[in-house]
Amino acid sequence: MTKPDTLKRRGLMFVLSSPSGAGKTTISRKLLEYDDQIRMSVSVTTRPMRPGEVDGEDYHFASREEFDRMVEQDHFLEWAHVFGHSYGTPKSQVKTGLAQGQDFLFDIDWQGTQQLYQKAESDVVRVFLLPPSLEELRRRLTSRGTDSDEVIAGRMARAQSEISHWDGYDYVVINDDVEACFEKVVRILDAERLRRARQTGLIGFVRELMKPQDD
Ligand code: 5GP
Repeated sequence: MTKPDTLKRRGLMFVLSSPSGAGKTTISRKLLEYDDQIRMSVSVTTRPMRPGEVDGEDYHFASREEFDRMVEQDHFLEWAHVFGHSYGTPKSQVKTGLAQGQDFLFDIDWQGTQQLYQKAESDVVRVFLLPPSLEELRRRLTSRGTDSDEVIAGRMARAQSEISHWDGYDYVVINDDVEACFEKVVRILDAERLRRARQTGLIGFVRELMKPQDD
């Protein structure tokens, strides 16, 4: 009889969104280190590479022409314009991965999340992180360096506009404490993996359990 923990299951698309300053990058990094069944979905973008970024790891960096061609050829699961650049999730890796039980972590904005959900509702789990307060958000957005008041005000306005999309998510976690927030995110992921519809190997397993017995 197949051991329960080796049952086949379908992978899921785990979307972690937040306004900048709410700790999304830290939580994503911890999750990828902690859990080897989930890996990052690497997006294509037209924005220039930042120092320290690696092509093919952080993003697939593409020219505007290349990106437009990919849109035309229906290469993307979702794509959107974010802050003046284009970003998209390539279909290929995700499609085959999900069928093999691979989970994917998505760092995409609310527009992409909506598109993903419309296309593949049953495979998508949407988690939104919030900062614990406005003061804390301001502190996190200022502690990055010696920015002018104007730059900080711009960041705050952008973060608040991102927060306005909180109701497009299945789960909302307030990131008051990184460890506590991380644990909650792990619990969400674990529970979602146990959804009956995702456990494709259950049918055979349960059939065995229900086999008529002689005694
Ligand atoms: P950054 O340029 O700072 O890496 O990302 C800017 C924004 O683009 C972030 O909010 C990020 O979540 C979003 N983003 C990154 N990749 C994708 C993608 O493939 N699709 C969508 N819709 N948004 C993305």
